[in-house]
Amino acid sequence: MKALRRFTVRAHLPERMAALDRLSINLRWSWDKPTQDLFATIDSELWKQVGRDPVALLGQVSPKRLDELAADEPFLHQLDELAAELDDYLSRPLWYQQQLEHGAELPNGIAYFSMEFGVAEVLPNYSGGLGILAGDHLKSASDLGLPVIAVGLLYRSGYFRQSLTADGWQHESYPSLDPQGLPLRLLTDSSGSPVLVDLAMPEDSELRARVWIAQVGRIPLLLLDSDIPENDHDLRGVTDRLYGGDQEHRIKQEILAGIGGVRAIRAFTEVENLASPEVFHMNEGHAGFLGVERIRELIDAGLDFDTALTVVRSSTVFTTHTPVPAGIDRFPVEMVKRYFGGPADERSREGHRSSDQSHESSRLLPGVSLDRIIWFGAEDDPSKFNMAHMGLRLAQRANGVSLLHGKVSRGMFNELWPGFDPGEVPIGSITNGVHAPTWAAPEWVELGRELIGNDDIDTLREPAVWEKLHEVDPGHMWWIRSQLRAKLVADVRARLRRSWLERGASEAELGWIATAFDPDVLTIGFARRVPTYKRLTLMLRDEERLEALLLDTDRPIQLIVAGKSHPADDGGKALIQQVVKFADRPEVRHRIAFLPDYDMSMARQLYYGCDVWLNNPLRPLEACGTSGMKSALNGGLNLSIRDGWWDEWYDGENGWEIPTADGLADEGRRDDIEATALYDLMEKSVAPKFYDRNEHGVPTRWVEMVRHTLIALGPKVLASRMVRDYTEKYYAPAAQSLRRTVEPGADGEPFGAARELAAYRERAAEAWPKIQITDVDSYGLPDTPLLGSEMTLTATVQLADLAPDEVSVQAVLGRVDASDVLVDPVTVPMQHTDTADGGNYVFTTTAPLPVAGPVGYTVRVLPHHPLLAGDNELGLVTLA
Ligand SMILES: *Cc1c(COP(=O)(O)O)cnc(C)c1O
Repeated sequence: MKALRRFTVRAHLPERMAALDRLSINLRWSWDKPTQDLFATIDSELWKQVGRDPVALLGQVSPKRLDELAADEPFLHQLDELAAELDDYLSRPLWYQQQLEHGAELPNGIAYFSMEFGVAEVLPNYSGGLGILAGDHLKSASDLGLPVIAVGLLYRSGYFRQSLTADGWQHESYPSLDPQGLPLRLLTDSSGSPVLVDLAMPEDSELRARVWIAQVGRIPLLLLDSDIPENDHDLRGVTDRLYGGDQEHRIKQEILAGIGGVRAIRAFTEVENLASPEVFHMNEGHAGFLGVERIRELIDAGLDFDTALTVVRSSTVFTTHTPVPAGIDRFPVEMVKRYFGGPADERSREGHRSSDQSHESSRLLPGVSLDRIIWFGAEDDPSKFNMAHMGLRLAQRANGVSLLHGKVSRGMFNELWPGFDPGEVPIGSITNGVHAPTWAAPEWVELGRELIGNDDIDTLREPAVWEKLHEVDPGHMWWIRSQLRAKLVADVRARLRRSWLERGASEAELGWIATAFDPDVLTIGFARRVPTYKRLTLMLRDEERLEALLLDTDRPIQLIVAGKSHPADDGGKALIQQVVKFADRPEVRHRIAFLPDYDMSMARQLYYGCDVWLNNPLRPLEACGTSGMKSALNGGLNLSIRDGWWDEWYDGENGWEIPTADGLADEGRRDDIEATALYDLMEKSVAPKFYDRNEHGVPTRWVEMVRHTLIALGPKVLASRMVRDYTEKYYAPAAQSLRRTVEPGADGEPFGAARELAAYRERAAEAWPKIQITDVDSYGLPDTPLLGSEMTLTATVQLADLAPDEVSVQAVLGRVDASDVLVDPVTVPMQHTDTADGGNYVFTTTAPLPVAGPVGYTVRVLPHHPLLAGDNELGLVTLA
């Protein structure tokens, strides 16, 4: 008989062990090994059975065992220590507090929005890298003491669970999660009733959500949940699945995350008596609607639209994660109009007709004009609303997630800054990182502790700390790597058996699994989502060659493959099937396997145990990639196309680069070339090094590469480095901009500075078409100019109604190519030196010639205002 509904009842803990509750609810246990060990001692069998889930463990452990433990002094002692340690972790001054102490001007709060969060496998609210990155961001923010409040959705079925059919086809299932059985608490108001976030939907319906709070160390993660009786049946399903459903479903999710998310934060900070966050960070464009909700709030408080936009822009950071236009979220404009337009505001329902149709205002966002909202998402195709464009228009600061991706993004979004070369598009980059305490194997953490002499993870950012690895004996490092590989092999066998049984095999047929995979064989991992660009099947390009590598008698290789395909992507499922069919063959099945249901717990085993981490995306489509970083933190060597982070940090000795043929238009040939290079590397470089042993059986050259990888990449790949970079380069400047925009103006009214900037933007936009450079002169150069010779330039500029200090006039000079295009020019500011008639001004500069060879120059005018993040921000420029 199947139950109609399920719910979870939490066990009643003996008073003396009440701290277990705190330790299980705060997800900090997920990166604290001693706390995990404590839970394991409660009932080690059950701990494994429930998938290392403390809340589930406490729900199922027998009352008899709890009574036993209540009298177990060593256990209680350990419990008290860990509880005290957690309290200390949550309250002691950390990096952020120290920075404030030293006078740094930092935001008092940062709201971080993401559609997915991968914090721990017990809260499966993620599909892949984007979500795990968000989880790692929160954990590192917690370790640094940064005051972040995170917001997302609670998906009833998470993403999906993957299994395989007998035929090797991906099968999805959607087990329903019970929030009561998860490490969550409900946000309640001062009277104890659940807070409900409320959003007006088309046709007079309402979407309501309650707010769950997951505690990630110091960071509260607010998760909105629409599956509540207060909603109509169809709206209950809004938060059913991550990336499921059609666009109509998707826009509701994004409205809930963005607009509902801001409302959830307001309720949370009020209940908890916290300051409102100053900075809002959109992790990808999905949560972009948060900006329009903030504009609504400010209009509600009495500001006009442009001033409100100025305030919102000053304090918003937007991170883009995709280098492909097809990866960007776009909605039909008509759909956006249906949600944001509306049969006028509330008054129309009371019988007052809205008089001004063109300023139609929505029920969802009263007071905000639909036209302005639509403009935020405008792009080439007038029928589409582009969420990335909205993010860029609502954020004064934006970034990509690796150096290469920053560059690709500047090209991709160049159209929003017409008149500028891609290099000048104001999109920077911060290379992603990974949370070391989550992803480094306990064996390495233990070694680190011995070397450093304490567990202060803050010191991990110092390269000198990693240099201590020079002291470690190669034999010991090899021993750790071999332990980790052996554990992985045991885990792979268990997973293989489960998968074969699920696919319909009988135990009697599975005897071979006991000896499948070998703890001494070179182990290569490939696990990630399965979009086309990641090329899951590149390794199968020449099946015979791969088979020969797997079965080589002297230097065999074993390959572990995993990854989920999006449920709607049959192409991806066909790729998985291709791998499964190859790996099913009795000749090779002991050396290659596809393991179903890739998730954080499987990922961890793979990063710990694989000797080599393979990545072969189509360059430059991998924005950053983080799995290789996690492998590197465990001494795994990357074997990868130079894309994303690997393009930046490959140094010739910390792994291998697969040469890319990324200029080739013929994709088939490109795959052939890159696959051949991959096989060659495996055969001629990777395997020989791994099997080249000294008299003690230690592959010393390999171990030196492992050591070098840890030392060179360890301090770089850390998420704490990433979060500090965000804080210093984005959050702090955004908070400073915000503080300046809200300052009173000349009239003493608050937001005066924002009003001035908004007025300046309007005047600049109006003046711009009339601005002209009417005359440019150069003099002072000798007949034969030499490198460094000085040249004086003057330009006469018609400024329409702008003042000379409201523009930036620049000389741009440098090498020119055959068609007179300036290549990597230098920019020299010109000074206002004279005023002519009729709004004409003369600007001058003297500059040395920066390069030899064919040189050229031009002059340009840009808007300038102290509250802009840069002169290029508005995308306005006039060239001579
Ligand atoms: C790190 C991680 C990813 C991201 O891997 P990429 O190679 O960057 O795509 C995806 N899924 C899981 C479970 C991870 O831990």
